[in-house]
Amino acid sequence: MAKHDLSPTIGAAPPPADCPGGTLPSVPPGRLFEDEMRARLLENIERIRQTLQYDDSEPEREPDPFDEVARQVREEINISVRRCLIASRNDMRRALEDMELGCYGRCQECGSEISRRRLEAAPWARFCVPCQDRMEKNEFD
Ligand SMILES: [Zn+2]
Repeated sequence: MAKHDLSPTIGAAPPPADCPGGTLPSVPPGRLFEDEMRARLLENIERIRQTLQYDDSEPEREPDPFDEVARQVREEINISVRRCLIASRNDMRRALEDMELGCYGRCQECGSEISRRRLEAAPWARFCVPCQDRMEKNEFD
């Protein structure tokens, strides 16, 4: 007898994701929207990479010593900008990881859905507006 082993391994679902906000699937219209957000995240990450690289390769030209203070100020701004860019890039990478885990678009704090409008404005958003507000408020308390 022919032994046709056609075990249905195609499209096997990945193991349940270990999402802090729960293991529910991502926002229903899912795929397309997620693909679009992924593309935007990757684009942003690439842009940040280029910006960081550009800053690194900034030619050192110090025409005169009076420029020193200006240079220091510029450097300090540069450092905080870079810190900001790196933090944003980390958020973006985490959002991409969430996609891999299948919990993109879900608040990592309370597990509720993050609105599409919010994600469209900030594809790296990982918290719903109420949770984000609460956390920001706590930061300043
Ligand atoms: Zn939330």
